[in-house]
Amino acid sequence: MAKTYSLPPLPYKYNALEPHISEQIMTLHHDKHHQAYVNGANAALDKLEKARAGAMQVDVRGVLRDLSFNIDGHKLHTIFWPNMAPAGKGGGKPGGRLADKMDQDFGGFDKFKAQFSDACKTVEGSGWALLLYDREIDTLVLTQIEKQNFMHLAELPILLSADEWEHAYYLQYLNDRAKYVEAWWNVVNWDDVAKRFDGARK
Ligand code: MN
Repeated sequence: MAKTYSLPPLPYKYNALEPHISEQIMTLHHDKHHQAYVNGANAALDKLEKARAGAMQVDVRGVLRDLSFNIDGHKLHTIFWPNMAPAGKGGGKPGGRLADKMDQDFGGFDKFKAQFSDACKTVEGSGWALLLYDREIDTLVLTQIEKQNFMHLAELPILLSADEWEHAYYLQYLNDRAKYVEAWWNVVNWDDVAKRFDGARK
């Protein structure tokens, strides 16, 4: 029997990000949306296994696309949850080496924040904005993902992920994505981002 993915628990309570992100959004987002990606990834793996065993005929291209969509959905949300911290503990600015790197690569935190916000606000349709680190040239890199199929910058580890799907904000912010992005900065967990940066540099 193949291994399966499972839904990781939220690292804080569903209401912990209020007032910036509501309990209702967090509950649906984690329990329904993230769970659906986990289920979808497992279903696609199961189809491929059955096809290999000759028990089922599948459209491999279609199933692999499905698999990528759902695995990426699962992985991105698994980074997204701990990338945030309860109001009061999150927000502000990073410190230490990450802050130094942002100064070096972006000309300061404010310039990073402005460009990352633009990346969040301009994702076409549903998608993500990400901060990545490229060890090859020792540089922080921004990217966007449409939906969650990686038009991926291969191998670059994700430091910070921002979910820009409507399900991440619509119930609270309606169509005002810019307002959600502004509020989201208040819950960014810079300790987690810095930990990922240190890991990526090793
Ligand atoms: Mn999402």
